[in-house]
Amino acid sequence: MIAEVIVDVLSSEVDRVFDYTADESIKLGDRVLVPFGNRKTEGYVIGLKDKSDYDKLKSVYERLDEYPAITCEMLSVMEFMTKKYHLRKADVLRLFIPSGMRGGRVHAIVKRFVRLNVDFDEALLSVRKGADKQLGIVKDIADIGEKRFDALSKLYGASAVNALIDKGILAVRSEEVGRSPFNENDDFDFPKQVATEEQKRAIELLCKPGGSYLLHGVTGSGKTEVYMQAIEHYVSIDKTAVMLVPEISLTPQLMRTFKGRFHKNIALLHSGLSDGERFDEWRRIRNGEAKIVIGARSAIFAPLDNVGIIIIDEEHDGSYVSDGNPRYKTADVAEFRAKYNNATLVLGSATPSVETYYLAEKGKYQLIEMPHRVNGRQMPPIEITDMCRELALGNRSIFSESLKESLKECISGGNQAMIFINRRGYASFVICRECGYVAKCEDCDVSLTYHRTENLLKCHYCGKTYKMLDECPDCHGKSIRQGRTGTEKVVEELNALFPDVRVMRMDCDTVRGKGAHAKILNAFREKQAQILVGTQMIAKGHDFPDVTLVGILDADMSLHLEDYRSAEKTFQLVTQVAGRAGRKDLGGKVVLQTYTPRHYVFRFAKDYDYRGFYSKEINMREVTGFSPFTTIVRVLITGEEEGKTMELTKSIYFAVKELRNTHPDAFVFINAMRSPIKRIEKRYRCQVLMRIKEKDADDILSYVYEIVDKNRVKGMTAFVETNPSNLT
Ligand code: ADP
Ligand code: ZN
Repeated sequence: MIAEVIVDVLSSEVDRVFDYTADESIKLGDRVLVPFGNRKTEGYVIGLKDKSDYDKLKSVYERLDEYPAITCEMLSVMEFMTKKYHLRKADVLRLFIPSGMRGGRVHAIVKRFVRLNVDFDEALLSVRKGADKQLGIVKDIADIGEKRFDALSKLYGASAVNALIDKGILAVRSEEVGRSPFNENDDFDFPKQVATEEQKRAIELLCKPGGSYLLHGVTGSGKTEVYMQAIEHYVSIDKTAVMLVPEISLTPQLMRTFKGRFHKNIALLHSGLSDGERFDEWRRIRNGEAKIVIGARSAIFAPLDNVGIIIIDEEHDGSYVSDGNPRYKTADVAEFRAKYNNATLVLGSATPSVETYYLAEKGKYQLIEMPHRVNGRQMPPIEITDMCRELALGNRSIFSESLKESLKECISGGNQAMIFINRRGYASFVICRECGYVAKCEDCDVSLTYHRTENLLKCHYCGKTYKMLDECPDCHGKSIRQGRTGTEKVVEELNALFPDVRVMRMDCDTVRGKGAHAKILNAFREKQAQILVGTQMIAKGHDFPDVTLVGILDADMSLHLEDYRSAEKTFQLVTQVAGRAGRKDLGGKVVLQTYTPRHYVFRFAKDYDYRGFYSKEINMREVTGFSPFTTIVRVLITGEEEGKTMELTKSIYFAVKELRNTHPDAFVFINAMRSPIKRIEKRYRCQVLMRIKEKDADDILSYVYEIVDKNRVKGMTAFVETNPSNLT
């Protein structure tokens, strides 16, 4: 037998398949140890055949696992991904198995258990007089039937236990003990709820095999229950299920809910697991013990067989696109696996991404709407306060008068408040504090970014530069601002305003380390603090019954990011954050502070009018030529020498321009420039940016990959990204 092997080596520039001879036990998808050069290397069998075109083949040393680590389905996923994203097979295969498995760094934990091999009386007789330890062991085991070898050794010493085993009085049995990421004490029962009419309709649709759906349900509409009942259906007909959530929403609360409904059937995969836990969970999935996988992005690669349903919750979340290498879009992979298995695919969100909603309109996804909260609770009213007006009235604080009042009321009523501040929206944009004017690119309608060293404003999409403002071109005001307010500053001001009130803070700085995230949330749930100040992290999925007030400071921050999606992101953020208020019977309200109160994002967000927002936004995208009508492609070129980096950028740029000559209608835009961040880790960075009409995108992209491949230069990198989430 000849095995076609992908060798797991990072450095190899080419992604070649090597032939090896192997005996008949070899299987497709096996991890194997093979000779490569003059060393032993791990590899994956991706093909089997009878004959090779080469002679003098080396042979496979050994199979590394008892079963193929890569299933046939995942081999197809590999083919799909390497083609679609122009990735190396070895890099893709690495995504499919727990990292600790490579190089044999993790192993199953096997424990030995001992029990009596003869009846109790006989055992007592066989123990020599005075051998108290052995006697103790016999009595101990007789009481409980079986005990772990190491537990007994600890009590009585290993030699006593071994002596009894040697005499045949004790029998030994080995069993693997799984490392579980779930807390054992958490296994309570979370019974099925009686579905509302809205939920019932959704569940019925999702139980039909093979469809693709966009589930658009407002926050609190009970999407989770819909998912769980659909999953239950597929498991009952012997199929499996994948439920993806953004990493940040993998809250202890959500895990308890799923565990409480599905118990042993559920496996968990996310980045916070130890290598051992991940390995054990992965094997429970691979051997069919766990039928349901819940996890973050990478759980889409779970080695489940016979998938019945794939759910991507909060589908609009940015974390579903991997930033690093290998780059992929989770929804693409999900779609491929769903087709492969004739499974149902569900994308769920309260604020679907504009791209997804557009595809639903075009019929790619069937739209399911859940416009009502469970039990008919109202969405909390959103009050928009105009910070320009506050300034004009002499309020220079970061809180509007209205928010201060509302905080007072909330606190004196014994309720809780959440204050949200968007730190990700680092304020590199410039805004006039007197009228709310924001500098924008004339050509792209995206906010300009301030570059301090050059004292210029730049458009990150087309490279056009503008002079920095010293006064506002609209109102001639002099309060041009480009600073930012951080979470710490907010806490400080809250402490000054309400000295007796406990305030907690949650951002990347306070949630370092395993479990820190959960600790803060739990403490807040237990009312150890009355106000929680936080970034994006507090926006999602948390259900705090006593929160009656949500304050959103500087809602503009994400609005004026140099990103064509900034309006969309802001709408999503405001809606998500607002959804935290008034979850239970207490009711609630939201105070949103902005310098641009009349912006359409806030107008639509205030009314929870997703459709209205979408219609306006999709129109804008069409006019300005952004996604979903075009695909933005960036080739990022980096190198240690500035001159060479520019040279390579030029070659790629000229090749792309030639491509435009042969495909004149496909391109909306091409440009080459330095990246906004010119140098990172000693490497200079340049980029070739293009926007390609959507219908031509796949074609042109494959040519761009070719161009990049032809222009490989040692020591330099050229990296192709589509619709990148940032252009820095
Ligand atoms: P979403 O994910 O759509 O924001 P959730 O799934 O968090 O909404 O549901 C909101 C709340 O309603 C949760 O506390 C959930 O337990 C509860 N809930 C969901 N469905 C039902 C139902 N059919 N009957 C009673 N309570 C429900
Ligand atoms: Zn521009």
